[in-house]
Amino acid sequence: MFIGIQTDSLSLYARQPKKRSYLALGNRIELYYLVSQLIQLRLSYRQIQQAVLQRKHAWLSKSTISYWARRIHNPLGKVSQFQSGPSPELAYVIGVVLGDGNLNIHGYNAELILAVTDYDFAKEFSASLATILVQPKPYKVRWHPRKNRWVVQGSSILLYNFLSRDWRNLKKWIEHCSRCRAAFLRAFYDAEGSISGRKLSLHNTKKALLLYIQDLLNQHRVETSRLYLHRSKGTALLDPKSGKVYFRRKDGFSFIVRTKSLPQFAKEIGFSIERKQKRLAEAARGVMERTLISNEAIPHSDSRGL
Ligand SMILES: [Zn+2]
Repeated sequence: MFIGIQTDSLSLYARQPKKRSYLALGNRIELYYLVSQLIQLRLSYRQIQQAVLQRKHAWLSKSTISYWARRIHNPLGKVSQFQSGPSPELAYVIGVVLGDGNLNIHGYNAELILAVTDYDFAKEFSASLATILVQPKPYKVRWHPRKNRWVVQGSSILLYNFLSRDWRNLKKWIEHCSRCRAAFLRAFYDAEGSISGRKLSLHNTKKALLLYIQDLLNQHRVETSRLYLHRSKGTALLDPKSGKVYFRRKDGFSFIVRTKSLPQFAKEIGFSIERKQKRLAEAARGVMERTLISNEAIPHSDSRGL
């Protein structure tokens, strides 16, 4: 899975406009955020030019500032909408973003791009994103032949800023209520979970995040195994599609849901991805049947003649 933030290529030049010297992307993004803050303070373009010069020693043309302002505002002059109040949809988007663990910026209009192999996953993300960005319809899910993935793309500087904070500062939204919590967990499992037989596992490189997820699962009365090292830094990984070999950059951690908790997980959390959901339902059914049989096999105390 890949989540990126993409933007347009915009020219930005320092002091002497004749000799265009393009600033490094990191600097341009910093300037963009500074300008977006200044615009919200309702400064004039000239005041913004001066403030940027003072703070960042860079000179922005008024046309660049005006172009950015139009990106930041909608035609009615309001900052483009983002429903930042807690909701299951926002919790789902947070889960997907944390599940991948990385947000990349390629430009200015803060585009969120999700590219995944499962259509239903992309569709769920698109619907949640549209809800929190107050769009009348879900974003288009399109097939990207080169990436060999389903792609959803939305754009919001406010959402980008919101999601850029450390995940610990998103807990208020994740834990808002049991629906938000479940939506977050479902998103994370859609992104990083896998199920084969009765083994429902979750992988991520962030140990603290996985411990937190275990805690959330516990609140849904889903028991988990201890965390274990799933793969280690520097080991080789073969991509079966491209045939290329990669080397893992970080240690990964993993845990599984205890078999007896599978029915509870299926009932309260589940997957949006049908392919995984089917396997989960099957595993949960198997566990419930086995529990029924073993309960029947235990004789009642009165029948044991004690
Ligand atoms: Zn809630």
